[in-house]
Amino acid sequence: MLNSTLSELAGALARRSISSVELTRLCLERIARLNGALNAFITVDAERSLREAGAADERRAAGRAGSLTGIPLAHKDIYCTRGMLTTCGSRMLANFVSPYDAHVVERFAAAGTVLLGKTNMDEFAMGSSNETSHFGPAKNPWDTARVPGGSSGGSAAAVAARLAPAATGTDTGGSIRQPAAFTGVCGLKPTYGVVSRYGLIAFASSLDQGGPIAKSAEDLALLMNVMGGHDARDSTSLERAAEDYTRELKAPLAGLRIGLPREYFGAGIAPAVLARVREAIAWFEARGARLVELELPNSRLAVPVYYVIAPAEASSNLSRFDGVRYGHRTRDYADLADMYCRTRAEGFGAEVKRRILIGTYVLSHGYYDAYYLQAQKVRRLIARDFAEAFGRCELIMGPTAPSTAFALGANRDDPVQMYLNDIFTIPAPLAGLPALSIPCGFDAAGLPVGLQLTGNHFTEARLLGAAHRYQQETDWHRRVPAATPL
Ligand code: GLN
Repeated sequence: MLNSTLSELAGALARRSISSVELTRLCLERIARLNGALNAFITVDAERSLREAGAADERRAAGRAGSLTGIPLAHKDIYCTRGMLTTCGSRMLANFVSPYDAHVVERFAAAGTVLLGKTNMDEFAMGSSNETSHFGPAKNPWDTARVPGGSSGGSAAAVAARLAPAATGTDTGGSIRQPAAFTGVCGLKPTYGVVSRYGLIAFASSLDQGGPIAKSAEDLALLMNVMGGHDARDSTSLERAAEDYTRELKAPLAGLRIGLPREYFGAGIAPAVLARVREAIAWFEARGARLVELELPNSRLAVPVYYVIAPAEASSNLSRFDGVRYGHRTRDYADLADMYCRTRAEGFGAEVKRRILIGTYVLSHGYYDAYYLQAQKVRRLIARDFAEAFGRCELIMGPTAPSTAFALGANRDDPVQMYLNDIFTIPAPLAGLPALSIPCGFDAAGLPVGLQLTGNHFTEARLLGAAHRYQQETDWHRRVPAATPL
């Protein structure tokens, strides 16, 4: 049961071969048994989960169930949840209980899903390894001495170890796709503006986007049908008609043009990652897809551009954590200014402070033109490269990350090395494009490799369709880590 996809679980619930209470209990038992080793969850409230599951069963008995009613899910701890802690992985919010639900949380509750708990993450979503979490790192279920990726590492680890059938994440520079790749699960970053950011704690507002993490592309589509759509409370939420993200799951691959950017197959990529990605691409070619060689010349600037823009926006967004309005406040202080300083010194970890300092610097008078404005111009060039590329192909493929999961502590003292791990995931959010990661095999150490598919704006359904076709004939997404057997 725990290795079933969402549509299989939904079928079992509809046939009454399992109740939501029984299914929720299975997940809670597994969390109780394995979370000590994985640290995937920050908060679990079993009583609340079982209450919601009971309500879902009653709703089904009354004939009012939707397709996902009764399915247990986990939310990344960046989504505000009323009546449950929302820490964002930070000491600053370690005691914060939101008075309202995020839009995405509301939508899932309305669909009748069951909240299992809140998952671990890098502090304020800043990181690629989950090691910046105030609550300690989540671990990779394929090898608990390795990171699960970040920042949505807890959600990815929870789905990979089958603690939760699916989970939410957020992606600013790769935080859904890179942990999905590192843990052998699937993750989608939608087009900017498709999923409301209302109630999502802000990191870099022009980049942040919520999305699903699950076992299969079809599951991602089912989750997007709940998460996606206009919300007037987010001014960047797009006013578009509701979409059915499953509509292209059966679309043929013949004639599909797959772009292969030269920059995504160059030096610095682990040989096993390149080999698995090339095998997956050959699979698509064998089914009638056409391969198109192309270039994204400005993508080599994506990491430096991102590390100007994201910290700039973060330094502004995080100014709200002042000890007055939310969360942590220092105990002893002389006056108001001293209270602000001490609160922020105590509440934020080293990576968050580093970003606030960088962001404040690049926005300061005298440096603004040289850094921030320049980065915005190059951001536009990166987007233009993609626009040109999508004149020649429908989707772009390459590795999600240049390596498989690295060891805990490996990059801890070298932020630049850590930042470079996001080289293939950062371009899509800079251009506002949808992109997903699916598993496509393993390296010699048995660690999963991720294949990334990037599309033009609003082509989520096509990306999901291509990924689904691949998953109908491969079983990488069905593999379960040996350390967490079913
Ligand atoms: N790893 C990147 C960073 O540290 C991306 C994080 C994210 O997407 N939230 O900023």
